[in-house]
Amino acid sequence: KPSVGVLAVQGAFREHRQHLEALGADVREVRLPGDLTGLSGLVMPGGESTSMARLLSDFGLWAPLRDFHARGGVLWGTCAGAILLSRRVEGAPPQFGGHQDSLGLLDVTVRRNAFGRQVDSFSVPLPVQGLDAPFPALFIRAPVLTELGPDVERLAQHDGQTVMARQGRVLASAFHPELTGDRRIHGLFLDLVAEHQPVASA
Ligand code: GLN
Repeated sequence: KPSVGVLAVQGAFREHRQHLEALGADVREVRLPGDLTGLSGLVMPGGESTSMARLLSDFGLWAPLRDFHARGGVLWGTCAGAILLSRRVEGAPPQFGGHQDSLGLLDVTVRRNAFGRQVDSFSVPLPVQGLDAPFPALFIRAPVLTELGPDVERLAQHDGQTVMARQGRVLASAFHPELTGDRRIHGLFLDLVAEHQPVASA
């Protein structure tokens, strides 16, 4: 039985937990560095990436998350979680000098709130690589991924913009599979986890 975590400092982590448990995974909520011990995968949920970044600092999680990746852990970020995984963030609030810290584990630029503030949220049937029928993708103040590095594989696009991508053990989606009843992308994540050995404790 795969042991996976959901980053639970802010955002829609309970919904991820429910989907993963429904698929038979053992799920732990991660708030402190020690919570990562023994996990083979981690989901970083949607929410608000500026607050989440501040909480990662408060909980001392930046280095442990990079370390988790370096030791072979699989990571999946949805929306704000995808922003935190990216190499470079565009559209950070001006009060932060337009700069936002991120993990830099996915070689892309991420543009926050890329579909415009007037379009708060929308849902589209989205063709996703690896799924045989379109996925009901819910976008909420969603980012897009640009400037994909050579090792980044595009898995879905909407309106000519990349909205899902993968680089090795790092998966990112701009939309929210945890807020729909469709568990296929959680299934893809667990497949990726199953392909990797459990991470030895630090
Ligand atoms: N717009 C949010 C941000 O930039 C992300 C929204 C979400 O996760 N649904 O952090």
